[in-house]
Amino acid sequence: MDSTTSQNNIFPKGQLGSVDYFTGTVWVTPLLADDGVNHFSIGNVVFEAGARANWHTHPRGQVLIVTDGQGFYQEKGKPAQPIKKGDVINIPPHVEHWHGASANSAMTHIAITNFEKEEFVTWLTPVTDAEYKEVNLTK
Ligand code: MN
Repeated sequence: MDSTTSQNNIFPKGQLGSVDYFTGTVWVTPLLADDGVNHFSIGNVVFEAGARANWHTHPRGQVLIVTDGQGFYQEKGKPAQPIKKGDVINIPPHVEHWHGASANSAMTHIAITNFEKEEFVTWLTPVTDAEYKEVNLTK
């Protein structure tokens, strides 16, 4: 089995994530929108090996449920945390962070993202190749 591409097929693979917000190949499938009753959105995100989100924050936090593969979650100024299928990550409001696949494995997560009015994410700078390489070397 080739772990560098996703084997997860619970949901459709979706649309390619924007190069403005991601490095590498990322697929995003919206599952639920903020409908005014649920003040959160749910999306399925597939990161191919080496792919990751930019640094970013959420005004009301976010929960990730990893459903396939292996990757990393890192808060600014802290060591990266390896994450794998079955892990649940509770991300506090306003904490700068990124999540993505490891260099040699794809990673899929469901993202449950709380809204503050219309806001749910503030995108920041990309995770550089140097930052990403360091994380992968130490794990
Ligand atoms: Mn996030």
